[in-house]
Amino acid sequence: MKFVKRIGFIGLGLMGSGMSMNLLKAGFPVTVWNRTRSKMKPLLDAGAKGAGSPSEVAERSDIVIDIVTDSADVEEVLLGPSGVIRGARAGTTVIDMSTISPSVTKRIAQELEKKGVKMLDAPVSGGDIGARKGTLSIMVGGDPEVFNECLPILEAMGKTITLVGGNGMGQTVKLCNQILVGMNMLGVAEALMFASKAGVDLEKAHAAVSGGAAGSWQLTNNGVKLLKGDLEPGFKVKDYLKDLRLIMETAADVNMPLLGTSVVQQMYRSLDAEGLRQKGTQAVIRAVEKLAETKLLP
Ligand code: NAP
Repeated sequence: MKFVKRIGFIGLGLMGSGMSMNLLKAGFPVTVWNRTRSKMKPLLDAGAKGAGSPSEVAERSDIVIDIVTDSADVEEVLLGPSGVIRGARAGTTVIDMSTISPSVTKRIAQELEKKGVKMLDAPVSGGDIGARKGTLSIMVGGDPEVFNECLPILEAMGKTITLVGGNGMGQTVKLCNQILVGMNMLGVAEALMFASKAGVDLEKAHAAVSGGAAGSWQLTNNGVKLLKGDLEPGFKVKDYLKDLRLIMETAADVNMPLLGTSVVQQMYRSLDAEGLRQKGTQAVIRAVEKLAETKLLP
């Protein structure tokens, strides 16, 4: 009989809720834990088991996935007093799918290794929509053998799954992705505002350029949200500011000037000052509107 791996899942936010649901749908036995326990309910209703702590998740799982917020949060759920490392055994595998610091990732992988626990860093792109549909892009750092073992699990959550190097490299490539995301998003906001100021119908402008060389995920998904005046988060401004901080720290490590990304960072910082941290990244339109002294929508 085929051995089905038991999956543990920690962090049921915008991303983790959809991703863990897709693992259940693919037939994996899943044990979940979330700091705010009420968010576990939809998963428990769908057949997942609940645990009382990350260490308990690890006790009941062969593979433990986490997707929380920042480096310190991953350290807490993996290495903290009730963290995964307390319940894991030699042979357990951890897959961290949060977006965090490449250097912290390497250190966490070394700590886990001391207990015989292997780790993949496997941050994702594709938003909450991709998380729900199971179409995420997953950029993976770690050992090729561990990657191959985990591939069927990653395939239940994503479509484009790429091993890019050793531990930390998945996170580095994710930061490349975030450089692209921010400049793209700012481009979408500026282009729509430009169309609006020049008196073009926004829906028509959006439709006309979406299929051309300037088409993009940001234009298709966040562009449509802007046309509806919808600033609710698929990806929060506060989390993108975290990624911009990680990009700039890594750029300093490798001595790389990032002029375009610096502009993006200042625009998002202005959103923070406006109290828009919990809104989606498409809220950059508010900063563009201020510069243009015009609202995008009447
Ligand atoms: P979110 O909706 O804010 O969810 C964050 C999750 O992390 C929640 O389950 C939260 O628990 C948990 N968490 C945070 N700090 C914790 C701690 N110290 N201990 C235990 N649990 C903790 O965020 P998200 O959008 O799902 O993003 C999660 C990660 O994916 C981030 O690293 C983000 O950058 C990355 N990401 C997001 C997107 C996107 O489009 N949303 C796309 C790609 C990658 P509570 O429920 O108790 O707060």
